[in-house]
Amino acid sequence: MVERVETPHVDVVIVGAGFAGMLAAHNMRKQGHSVQGFEKGADVGGTWYWNRYPGLRCDVESVEYSYSWDEELQQDWTWSERYSAQPEILSYAQHVADRFSLRELFSFNTKVVKAVFDNDANQWTVTTDKGDSYTARWVIMATGALSTPKPIDIPGHESFTGRSLYSTDWPAQPVDFSGKRVAVIGTGSTGIQLATEIAKTAGELYVLQRTPSWTVPAFNRKLSADEVAAVKANYAAERERKRHSMDGLGLPGPEKGAFDATDEERTAYYQYIYENLSPFTYFGSYTDVLVDDAANKTISDFLASKVRERVNDPVIAEKLIPKSYPFGTRRTCIDSGYYEIYNQSNVHLVDLLESPLKRITPTGFEVSTGSTTAETDVDIIVYATGYDAFTGILNEVDLVGIDGKNLRDVWKEGAKTYLGTMSVGFPNLFLVTGPQSPSVLSNVVVSLEQHVEWISDCIEYLTEHGFTRMEATQQAQDEWVAQNNAIGQFTVHRASHSWYMGDNVAGKPHVVLPALMGVGPFRAACTEVAHDGYRGFALAS
Ligand code: NAP
Repeated sequence: MVERVETPHVDVVIVGAGFAGMLAAHNMRKQGHSVQGFEKGADVGGTWYWNRYPGLRCDVESVEYSYSWDEELQQDWTWSERYSAQPEILSYAQHVADRFSLRELFSFNTKVVKAVFDNDANQWTVTTDKGDSYTARWVIMATGALSTPKPIDIPGHESFTGRSLYSTDWPAQPVDFSGKRVAVIGTGSTGIQLATEIAKTAGELYVLQRTPSWTVPAFNRKLSADEVAAVKANYAAERERKRHSMDGLGLPGPEKGAFDATDEERTAYYQYIYENLSPFTYFGSYTDVLVDDAANKTISDFLASKVRERVNDPVIAEKLIPKSYPFGTRRTCIDSGYYEIYNQSNVHLVDLLESPLKRITPTGFEVSTGSTTAETDVDIIVYATGYDAFTGILNEVDLVGIDGKNLRDVWKEGAKTYLGTMSVGFPNLFLVTGPQSPSVLSNVVVSLEQHVEWISDCIEYLTEHGFTRMEATQQAQDEWVAQNNAIGQFTVHRASHSWYMGDNVAGKPHVVLPALMGVGPFRAACTEVAHDGYRGFALAS
């Protein structure tokens, strides 16, 4: 006789034990729901578990890049530095897991490979790589926006006989670069951090730059006891103010346009931001820098002068200055001495716009120089080539909604959601910081807390009112996406080509992926939808 094994049922499946997944698990348990979480890593931490390359620091100040939902937690935990390095952020995540007993809610080393919606039972069947299945009323995909590396698209990269290193899969043992010839490919946040660190010991370092990034010095430092005390004295109120700001960081900018200030006034203000605040706050500085190209250029001009000050060779400095996109339409980086590495004799900038990268060879890399090619031999190649942002991680799972449709296929022409959290045809499936939510254009901890809290309240409402099904309506989704695209056209993002729009991955459609309206307005829109009985969603029992 074949024994019939019942598929275990829980109220909520949560995928991912990063900052969002941990909070979702905590909230769901507090609300009395049965929870099963899955995490493909061996422990909590998400991005900060997976990323461990040398030089990795957060680009948001630690006192802000941390949870705000528990006053005792934020009072008890003390950050040691202004911008903490990865090990400290990971130990923070582990501390939270210990403190709130969150690990017991997750199966680790377990990847969700498939989830299929049952249209009659209004529930999902979730299957893992271990072959286990669970049914769940609600599924929360807390999988992060930058979780899946972009496939390496450089010819010959598998032929290299030296050591290849990938920023997204860094070896657990420290890598010794001393005296080695090293190439770093990519000059986004990751490449900039890696190159700065590797330049300290490498024999020769070649930084292969296609598009330069803007980067400003972190002015990182140990936090004094007085600074920490001042933050903690006012933590709750400041957090609340930032929740309603444009970027989750909350610089109160002057209520005037860039050209309403004198040149001296503007330069002094930009200098103040440069020395004291996050560079993301430049975007919220004057009222028109986000929409007017000329106003936006005042920031680029200011920052270009800083590059020229920091780099001795004027030719190299010009190559490092971004000229092909408005400020803020690609992620601004924070560095610990990046531009200065080009003043070292062992560091060489390889400008791929001037000499395009042809291929990786068995012994190094080859670039075109007019009608000929030039090959450089190296011992190690480091790939810091970015992510298949927002959709990559969701496409890794077979998410099968109504009528057997896979999210991968439904999003072939571009990812579309309502409020960044649900996509038509996929009832009861919540995305956290998904496409068309502020996510990467904000202090993501502020954004993910808002999203998880909204989802938690929503599940509470549905449960109390006896609803077993929730789905975004086509009209609401279309309007939400159209509104985001319209904001894109209204702002300096209109001409942007970057991973924010999916442009870095071959074949990925150009769509405005992050919500551009800002953190505060996004929160207000979500709150209003909830107050209106979840307007734009079809609810059913
Ligand atoms: P990224 O910003 O997408 O940068 C990837 C780099 O690789 C770009 O310079 C890109 O050039 C280059 N590249 C890609 N394919 C290439 C090719 N075939 N040939 C030559 N160059 C190629 O990725 P990332 O640096 O990993 O950063 C992604 C995001 O992660 C950041 O924006 C940030 O949100 C987050 N992050 C944060 C931190 C932090 O908190 N400190 C650290 C790391 C990452 P093109 O631009 O020309 O394509």
